[in-house]
Amino acid sequence: MSTLETPLKKELGDRTATALTKAFGIETVGDLLRHYPRRYVVRGELSDIAELAEGEEATVLAEIAAVHLRRASGRVILEVVVTDGSAKLWLTFFNQPWREKELRVGRTGMFAGKVGVFNGKRQLSHPDYELIPDGDDVDEAVSGFAGKFLPVYPSAAKFPSWKIAQCVEIVLDGLEELPEYLSEELLNEFEYPKFTQALHEIHQPSSLEAAAQARERLTFDEALLLQLLLAQRRAEYQSMPAISRKVKSDGLVARFESLLPFTLTDGQREVAAEIEADMAATHPMHRLLQGEVGSGKTVVALRAALTVVDSGGQAALLAPTEVLAQQHIKTITKLMGPLAQAGTLGGDADGTQVVLLTGSMNAAQKRDALSKIASGDAGIVIGTHALLSAGVDFFDLGLVIVDEQHRFGVEQRDALRTKAKIPPHVLVMTATPIPRTVAMTIFGDLEISTLRQLPAGRTPITTHVIPVLEKPHYLERAWQRIKEEVAKGHQAYVVAPRISASESELDGMSEADKAIARIMDGDSDEKVPLTSVEELAPKLALGALKGLSVAPLHGRQSSELKDATMQAFADGKIDVLIATTVIEVGVDVPNASMMVIMDGDRFGVSQLHQLRGRVGRGGVPGLCLLVSGASEESDAMVRLNAVASTVDGFELSRIDLEQRSEGDVLGKAQSGVRSHLRLLKVLRDEPLIEKARIVGSKLIEQDPTLEQSPPLAAAVAKLRMDDASSFVDKG
Ligand code: ADP
Ligand code: MG
Repeated sequence: MSTLETPLKKELGDRTATALTKAFGIETVGDLLRHYPRRYVVRGELSDIAELAEGEEATVLAEIAAVHLRRASGRVILEVVVTDGSAKLWLTFFNQPWREKELRVGRTGMFAGKVGVFNGKRQLSHPDYELIPDGDDVDEAVSGFAGKFLPVYPSAAKFPSWKIAQCVEIVLDGLEELPEYLSEELLNEFEYPKFTQALHEIHQPSSLEAAAQARERLTFDEALLLQLLLAQRRAEYQSMPAISRKVKSDGLVARFESLLPFTLTDGQREVAAEIEADMAATHPMHRLLQGEVGSGKTVVALRAALTVVDSGGQAALLAPTEVLAQQHIKTITKLMGPLAQAGTLGGDADGTQVVLLTGSMNAAQKRDALSKIASGDAGIVIGTHALLSAGVDFFDLGLVIVDEQHRFGVEQRDALRTKAKIPPHVLVMTATPIPRTVAMTIFGDLEISTLRQLPAGRTPITTHVIPVLEKPHYLERAWQRIKEEVAKGHQAYVVAPRISASESELDGMSEADKAIARIMDGDSDEKVPLTSVEELAPKLALGALKGLSVAPLHGRQSSELKDATMQAFADGKIDVLIATTVIEVGVDVPNASMMVIMDGDRFGVSQLHQLRGRVGRGGVPGLCLLVSGASEESDAMVRLNAVASTVDGFELSRIDLEQRSEGDVLGKAQSGVRSHLRLLKVLRDEPLIEKARIVGSKLIEQDPTLEQSPPLAAAVAKLRMDDASSFVDKG
């Protein structure tokens, strides 16, 4: 008998096993049994052969009239002719000469498959069949066969579905009763089949209802194992030591709050209190702070950082890009005022220093930053990936803040964590709000805080779609609107998807892109690539936006140039910034009131939402125009209209997730785990995930190491090992 770990070679022989490995990466019995059918074809009632129509899925009861084995173009072809008295039907099997032994003339059987026509003859290619043993009751056999469901598997050219079904059948026949990891109570409560039975039913269902129950149970298993893994991680964090960082009544935090030019919103206060309580504990905080763009996460994070500085420690803020790191240091030093100037004239004696560390800094700058980080003079360190490199030593790293978690994997979070002698507190921030169950799946090892409220004085953004295909003149109006905003003393962004239009980028240009390009050019025949910053900037400067101060900004510029441009824009010296998505996150220029996004259909829903969050920050109403050449009925247009119709980030992230594949949703964050999630879909299976979360938490509470249920412990350990090794693989 075999178990899930048994190599397929043992069950199926070397050739078949090797072919399965090549086609699907399947190696063990367990791998094959987790290759689940996508759907089932119900074998029909018996048909008369004479009435079969091409393309129909049919089942016939017939007698074998002739069998013929031949070779053609290197293949062995077995041809079987069957008849039911009404007509003849040809059955063909390629490279399965062994079937000749059982498909003997005179035997009766049932044959099921899709009717094809070849050389004018109706045929079934590789039909599913069952021969009726001599002397058996035909009626009984018929009802058994016709009631069956054929599994349809994800297949490969070299390994069709029917062949997978055959392998599964062999493997299931030899499968022993597997250890059950759900308790009797749970199985009864949810009316789930046992594990072994579920595997049988999902591959060879006795009824469609049984298949659905089996599928649900196996999906629940995936959710449960994942939740158990995450619950175990949470429990481990809880058992790690950490330095308790308490807010001092007369320390930096108090001074900071008294200096703030605004009062914290209720939401900010609540979250700040949660973080305060977490960090006062003697085990590390692991908290996710999610909130809309502009919901005031930075202030809350800074307050947490100052709490750590108050207790003699340091806080590090990891930003995904140089531009963002720069923005953070500006915002943070500004918010801190004299508190960020310790050791300088006019600086506050009790303050600290805020230091930047990025890859583009020169050697002297880096040396200076590194020495302040090592000595502890820098209480707050802001940086990019450079912070993770080997030469960076902290004096006492007490808090790690990760901004825009989506761009970092868990491994990077961990890399920074190891820079502390004692596990630091960790705060992860994301501006992409995600539905609860997704958060539970992606960030399930973190506690979650959410800022739902935007600070007062924030004006809502109005968003419109400009369908340039239908209404080309609207684009002219957009440029006109920018001029009006600038005349009122405001500033604007124009965002384009590309930096430049190189020759290679001409390939694969969609009709939509051409349409936009044409309109930009006023030339209906010339081929022009997708809107790019390098082309659009001079075009607008010399054309529609003549007279305004227009500047390009993109990732290929030197960081000096980028900085200078951003600074000039922030100072109001540039009216219109023509930029790529480098401005996506964090950039904060309250005077900017309008944004035009070119080729809006090229951006994801969440990205568009992030982008437009750059405007409407300074108490002036924000306007965002999404330009697209997509046609009115296209998916792209539906997406753009959704973005235009709501500013609810949660609603939008749901739309976004629904349009992306599961792999994207889970992304880097859980890439090892992902390969275990064969059935689970985080959006569709929300109730199941909730259920698993509750069951999992209860199990861990009662039995933290799962020692009372060895099969469960083993399954979680396996998941964990694969999860960890996938991180190692990525270096
Ligand atoms: P996020 O990081 O969530 O995108 P920020 O922390 O950068 O948001 O805040 C956006 C802007 O709102 C900043 O200019 C910040 O100074 C300001 N802000 C933050 N909290 C408040 C508040 N409670 N009242 C008024 N303005 C606030
Ligand atoms: Mg921010």
